Amino acid sequence: MDVLQKEHERLSKRLSSSKTVDEIQKTIDLLQEARNTIAADPTKASITLAKLQNPVKAAFDATNESLKETHSSLNKYSKALDKLFKDRPLPSSDDDALSSSSSLVSRAIVMHLLREGQFSVASTFLSELSQKKESSRPQEQKTNGAEASPSLEDIQTGELREQFATMYHILHQLKFESNLLPAIQWAREHRQQLQARGSHLEFELCRLQFVWLFHGGGNPQASMAAGRQAALEYARREFHAFVPDHLREIQQLMGAMAFCPNLETSPYRAIFHNPTAWSDVAQSFTREFCSLLGLSADSPLYIAATAGAIALPTLMKVQTIMKAKRTEWTSQNELPVEIPLPPSYLFHSIFVCPVSKEQTTDENPPMMMPCGHVIANDSLQRLSKGGKFKCPYCPSESHARDARKVIL
Ligand SMILES: [Zn+2]
Repeated sequence: MDVLQKEHERLSKRLSSSKTVDEIQKTIDLLQEARNTIAADPTKASITLAKLQNPVKAAFDATNESLKETHSSLNKYSKALDKLFKDRPLPSSDDDALSSSSSLVSRAIVMHLLREGQFSVASTFLSELSQKKESSRPQEQKTNGAEASPSLEDIQTGELREQFATMYHILHQLKFESNLLPAIQWAREHRQQLQARGSHLEFELCRLQFVWLFHGGGNPQASMAAGRQAALEYARREFHAFVPDHLREIQQLMGAMAFCPNLETSPYRAIFHNPTAWSDVAQSFTREFCSLLGLSADSPLYIAATAGAIALPTLMKVQTIMKAKRTEWTSQNELPVEIPLPPSYLFHSIFVCPVSKEQTTDENPPMMMPCGHVIANDSLQRLSKGGKFKCPYCPSESHARDARKVIL
């Protein structure tokens, strides 16, 4: 990897210091000048062209010379790449689970583009998609008739696009203009839904607005007293709605006033001098906005693709082994190996019953016996037969009715 890095650096250095572009620009200037001269006075044509010969040839030579250098470092770089990433075929698409649901894949791509704010790319993708559909319609109806994708049409109506446009407008104001007001307005309009989710977004935003005003409200010339005054007025005007839920935090903000102007060394430093405050608030806003739309905060396509990239080496190894041993894996929706993913990629806890070795489900939930051991409900019923029974993992005895359902 180090070699690759070095070659990459060398290449980009060459490219940035390369004189090729300058040389070509010089040549173009020469030619344009000659054209203008001839256009102004056609009688000078032959002498102008004669004068042009030598400098243009020299310019071409210089260009070729500097391109040579670029070529050679590009060659070295691609050789280093080939050496590191040996040409191996990717896992075959024989058992491509998604091949029958191309519209779902398309939908995921459009959603990803929309939530990344790539609106024009998304609309181009959608229009190309509908053209493709149009041309392959008869065939598609035969093979794929049942699978209509109303969700894609939903996106096409533009409502979702508008929502994301709103989100990006608010985020832009927040991140680049330090203007929290559109975000606060949005949070206020959706107060009930946010409260139902247990979200404190509105208070978080207002608290940052308070801090921002305290520091002068984006005006570096503002005096400290003026900033404090503006923050206090803001608190008087806006904070009463938050008193029931956030009394302690409001008290902290007011208490911090006493430490002014030594806030940097006070216990309130974390609130008033938090370098990540703005990005934190932007993140909470994105999360809440998406969740009210019924979406996760991170793009599912991004998560799926990253998890896939992490899993790829293992999957390729599995495929090689299966080919060598001529075995097949028949279980659907399940892999023969474990793929370790980082903790942020674990979304649902699962429990496998130690007795039946089956994964628990809503119908067959995990049950904890009074001794603290957990087995699946089916196993519990089988072992206890409705009466008193001994735990399979310790000597204690209990009744099935004393076991309690474990909620993961
Ligand atoms: Zn036990």
